Amino acid sequence: MPLNPLQTQAAEFDIAATAGDARSGTLRIKDTEIQTPNLFPVVNLYGGGTSRSLYGGGVHRTLKEFMVGHEVIGGGDYDEYFDGIMYSVGSLTDYNISRERYEDYISEPVKNREGFENFNGTLFLDSGGFKFLGGHGLDGSNFEVEIDQEKVYEIQDKMGGDILVNLDRPIAPSDDYDARVEKARQTAENITEFLDLSDGTRSARFLTLHGYNYSMLDTFLNEIDKIVGASRVHDEFDGIALGSLVPMKDNKTNLIDAIQDCREILRDWKFDDLPLHVLGISSTAIPLLAAVGADSFDSSSYLHSAINGKYATSLVSTKSLSEVDFSHCNCPVCSNDELVYRMQGNARYQKDVLGPVAMHNLIIQKREVAKIRDCIRSPGTEALVDYLEHTLGDHKSLRRFTHRVVNESLGGYF
Ligand SMILES: [Zn+2]
Repeated sequence: MPLNPLQTQAAEFDIAATAGDARSGTLRIKDTEIQTPNLFPVVNLYGGGTSRSLYGGGVHRTLKEFMVGHEVIGGGDYDEYFDGIMYSVGSLTDYNISRERYEDYISEPVKNREGFENFNGTLFLDSGGFKFLGGHGLDGSNFEVEIDQEKVYEIQDKMGGDILVNLDRPIAPSDDYDARVEKARQTAENITEFLDLSDGTRSARFLTLHGYNYSMLDTFLNEIDKIVGASRVHDEFDGIALGSLVPMKDNKTNLIDAIQDCREILRDWKFDDLPLHVLGISSTAIPLLAAVGADSFDSSSYLHSAINGKYATSLVSTKSLSEVDFSHCNCPVCSNDELVYRMQGNARYQKDVLGPVAMHNLIIQKREVAKIRDCIRSPGTEALVDYLEHTLGDHKSLRRFTHRVVNESLGGYF
């Protein structure tokens, strides 16, 4: 196929406004468009079932019913909460499926599949590097798939992801310097292969970056530069995905350090025109991460909270499901009598009780992210500072982080 000489990069990222280090813009990939900062909920697309059960997965299945506005949950249009979703190819065999089912799951693009036709958001496909670390592959009921860069890309490509990342070697807090350099080198080799394999793709390609602070990130990028070349990285990648933060997702000091340092190193390496995605965070960190300059993040907090019987009342607060007065929430889930009846425990299966709770939790998070965007797009930093004070300032454990972020990333108080 001849290359279109007018072909530009697969992603277009326009920054419309900044407030201190925070920024807000639009990310366009293929025929999708997403406003930033934004949250990609982790959605388990394939949970062992067939198209008849939207590919199953218990609570995950109910969530997918919301995603496509299925009649089982009373229909409705929930598209705006699924403008971007995250799926990890490492989850493909979570349900101990047969090889036949595995082959079926990767046989065609997600958006072409029976049941998912209504999904039109940006599909981010993680490489599952965390899961495949140490040579582990995809383990099914009667088969195993060895995973390398070529295999992961083949899966991502077949599934039709809009954003793809290279297969990475995440670091662990216990890794010493030599171990981290070796992992960076292995990741760099994967990057070269990933770029070769995906040459000409219409999907956006995000480079995975690993490190908790400036010096670690610099070491990582130096290894990438040696093997791939910084100019190739710049020319061919459409975004950056910062990983390895999962083990510290509940440590906000470390998270803020990592994102601030990452933004600084991206400036120094002249990658700061690219969108920065932070992989696998907890929802309570969202306002702080957006304020220090993360453009997108993914989280499964909404779902895990629901599974633990927790109903979100804000980004940072939850209530036990048995104590909730649903009339206090005007979201489409809590405004639906049948769904409220189910959340009160009146359903045969737990998934029908907890699925709507997960959807409510996600709506609360997405609404807050939209407010954060509005604040960044308001003149100056005042709106964002007010938002942080209002949302986090009342929480003793979060107040000091608010002060730090306001002072270090938003130019201080007026
Ligand atoms: Zn609600």
